[in-house]
Amino acid sequence: MGRKTICYRGSLKSCNYHCSYCPFSRHRASAAELERDRQQFVRFCDSMEKKAAESDIGAVFIVPYGEASIHRWYWEGLGRLAGLPGIDRVGMQTNLSFSVEACLNIFEFHCGGNDVGEMPGARKGKGRPQKKLCIWATFHPEMTDVDTFSDNCHKLTENGVNLCVGAVGVPQNLSLLGRLREKLPLDVYLWINKMDGLRRNYTEEERTAFSVIDPFFEVELNPPAADAAMCADRCFVEADGRVHTCNISKAKTVNWYTGNAEEIFRPLCGRKRCSCYLAYGGRADFEGRRHFGEYPIFRIPSGHI
Ligand code: SF4
Repeated sequence: MGRKTICYRGSLKSCNYHCSYCPFSRHRASAAELERDRQQFVRFCDSMEKKAAESDIGAVFIVPYGEASIHRWYWEGLGRLAGLPGIDRVGMQTNLSFSVEACLNIFEFHCGGNDVGEMPGARKGKGRPQKKLCIWATFHPEMTDVDTFSDNCHKLTENGVNLCVGAVGVPQNLSLLGRLREKLPLDVYLWINKMDGLRRNYTEEERTAFSVIDPFFEVELNPPAADAAMCADRCFVEADGRVHTCNISKAKTVNWYTGNAEEIFRPLCGRKRCSCYLAYGGRADFEGRRHFGEYPIFRIPSGHI
């Protein structure tokens, strides 16, 4: 058994981007909704102070529906989590529209000056807690351009933050994604997720072209059959404490805040296939572990791919 990874999804369903295909781009959150999301996240962070050590939790990943990075409380909470003894990595999925310097300052401040120790395979971070921080940045070509996006990527890596970058594999965007690859720091992995609404198979040429950008693209196209036994070291927690094994598995009856650890981590699936990276990338038998290290869910290579 490895150390445990927790994914957390708040109740936030709003975003500062307005991509045409995304349901969360149209929802404007009220002040009350945002306050509820903040309180729920603070409660989750409070719970981790006890649970991290009790359950040997090594990593926490924020995987919001909307855009969490533009809300200060997520950086405060990530800082708190990174400062907990025993936590190796914390991370967040984002569209990278946040202010890098301001947010890293909040993160660092809330680490409480704790000694975060050395992370094998992590970027050199001038001895700062950023070396625990993993950012999963998704490129949205409808809302930003290659130069703006890649500039923010450079700012993050220059500050010692671990970063992966990705985009949906829209065939029409192949040359744009090739340009993005050229602009990114060489050792930043650029992943490609399959396009769900494509309504046809990718052609051989498209598969090859996307595989040149992302060596794991074929795994994305052929996700493994479900096997809950491979998912004993992980848990997906919702804002109200509902617990799943992964982001697509059935909800359990146990609650994060009131249940015991054995029930919380007992795998429960209900799926035929682990159909997206957040699911298959957290399995104990995921072949990418050789490249992504102990916490592959963040998609950050521990060496070269
Ligand atoms: S669908 Fe989720 S819980 Fe089920 S086997 Fe795949 S990763 Fe594990």
